[in-house]
Amino acid sequence: MKFINVNQPFFPPFEEYCREIEKIWESKIITNEGKKLYTFESELKNNLKCDNLTLVCNGHSALESALQNMNLSGEVITTPYTFISTLHAIVRSGLKPVFCDINPDDYTINADLIESLITDKTCAILPVHIYGNVCDVEKINYIAKKYDLKVIYDAAQAFGVEYKNQNISNFGDITCFSLHATKLFHAVEGGIVCSNNKQIIKKIREFKNFGFNSNSEIENVGSNMKISELHAAMGICNLKYIDNIILRRKKLVKKYVDGLSSVKDIILPIEKKDIKNNYNYFIITFASDKYRDDIARLLLENNVETKKYFCPLVYEYGCYKNVFSNIYTPVAKKMSLCTLALPLYYDLLESDVEKIIDIIRNYFERN
Ligand SMILES: *Cc1c(COP(=O)(O)O)cnc(C)c1O
Repeated sequence: MKFINVNQPFFPPFEEYCREIEKIWESKIITNEGKKLYTFESELKNNLKCDNLTLVCNGHSALESALQNMNLSGEVITTPYTFISTLHAIVRSGLKPVFCDINPDDYTINADLIESLITDKTCAILPVHIYGNVCDVEKINYIAKKYDLKVIYDAAQAFGVEYKNQNISNFGDITCFSLHATKLFHAVEGGIVCSNNKQIIKKIREFKNFGFNSNSEIENVGSNMKISELHAAMGICNLKYIDNIILRRKKLVKKYVDGLSSVKDIILPIEKKDIKNNYNYFIITFASDKYRDDIARLLLENNVETKKYFCPLVYEYGCYKNVFSNIYTPVAKKMSLCTLALPLYYDLLESDVEKIIDIIRNYFERN
């Protein structure tokens, strides 16, 4: 019996990728400032409706380059229900994370709690559009203005998402995307930093190349976060399929939702008005952690992989256990115990989804 992974990268037709990289063998430019980089950046500007952006080698570097080029110091308010990269980026930038609890319905930061966490040390808010769900961008924007804070969005999972017909990259001071292979749109590895501030992007463009400016002078200590031409070429190929990818996922999600909506102990993702979803993940929430763990085990016995996001919460990992204590984020804790990601990717078959639905429904009919 075949094994169904929880995720699988999208692959463009092999010949299309070969055609895309062919010229690299003539130009001999395989990284640094090459043709593919410029082509990919300009296509992304169009797609994201964002005039100022730069590509970096991964989503984590996008976050670090943002945090390290905005003159930040002190505390950053963020969410504990995210991929560990978000927290590592804050800590590695010499900043102190302050954890804010999340909403139970979309798992994003609970904007109503942010103000109570602001101190005279707070310098920024780093919300995450987790699973492609849109944070309360309006309230966050209001708070940031009121207290003069920077907002850096971790939109690693939110490529293709729109809010009120505006691309998600248009909110906050900086928005960071990941182009990792597990994301719905990828360049094998890669990241994008977007901003409405030209100066910040210019600074990050230098930062990602050891700090060199256009005069080959270095004014700020830099790093190496460049993306290669081979990666950019993969991004160019995949971008042609982004609408198809989202449509295919939407279709599979609808099948899941139709099949599971009658199970009363499962809370399904909600479609919110004003939001164009990207269907990067299919997350369900169980009424109890026992159900969640039973279903994960049962599916695995049937050759179906699932993923328990985000369990543990980011501050519960070994390296942070003794660093952050007495943190109370009850909703995030509950969600880390009760949510489960089911398989979702472009090549997943309808029959696979049917099989998964049957296994879950049978369990709840027996229990
Ligand atoms: C994937 C991801 C990252 C890191 O992106 P990479 O490209 O893997 O470095 C950061 N934050 C979140 C929420 C992610 O899902």
